Amino acid sequence: MKKWIFLIIIVLSGIAIVGGTYIIQTKPNYRVDKNSMDKQTITENKVRITPIEHATMILEMAGRIIYVDPVGGEQPFAGHKTPDLILVTDIHYDHFDNQTLEKISRENTILIVPQAVADQMSKKIAGEIVVLNNGEKTEQKGILIEAIPMYNIPESPQAFHTKGRGNGYVLEAEGDRVYIAGDTSNIPEMKTLKNIDIAFIPMNLPYTMTVEEAAEAVVAFKPKIVHPYHYRGERGFSDINKFKELVNKADPSIRVELLNFYPNQ
Ligand SMILES: [Zn+2]
Repeated sequence: MKKWIFLIIIVLSGIAIVGGTYIIQTKPNYRVDKNSMDKQTITENKVRITPIEHATMILEMAGRIIYVDPVGGEQPFAGHKTPDLILVTDIHYDHFDNQTLEKISRENTILIVPQAVADQMSKKIAGEIVVLNNGEKTEQKGILIEAIPMYNIPESPQAFHTKGRGNGYVLEAEGDRVYIAGDTSNIPEMKTLKNIDIAFIPMNLPYTMTVEEAAEAVVAFKPKIVHPYHYRGERGFSDINKFKELVNKADPSIRVELLNFYPNQ
């Protein structure tokens, strides 16, 4: 009997290694199906979305090019238009990287950042820095930008994300409202958002939410379209198909789009 179990373990590990083009994972044992999500740039409403990786993306909205949390050096942005706006949500390396900003920001770029990021920014970054903190708004280059809180609950000084430090953002232009949640739990400030057309929602443990928590939050504020992003966690990818199922079971009117935010894995 014990031999059988041992054999099964060996066979299963073999399969994991042979099939191992993805990160070796324990639980949750979810693999992103690249074939079902090969669209790298899509247009939702009048907003063009290009996922780069994890939390990093390029949006084109009202004729403006917006880089969100650009990290990874200049290579991921090669061939893309230079940024009119750069949004940084938080101080962590997967959202903020001075070397990348030094390479990609231009004299006429406006960088929207929370104070905690501004405090750590390199003096060599070109462009104008506009500090925006939770609840504040600014209009830049025809786009209205509002900083939304992002934090972990229950709140604790030891949390990965403490309230007030980082920003989620709502961008508004030409009648479209886009919500980029940042690294956050399913906080009340998210659930009470209104009239969101396109939402980007993180789901990865232990940093943000489970797919169940993310689905519950999304069903509460009912964006027209939702994109899971930032869905690689400590134990591999979150099950974004399950997220889609949960959202659509509760509210079939919300369109869940699964974009490939991990083209290099
Ligand atoms: Zn993050």
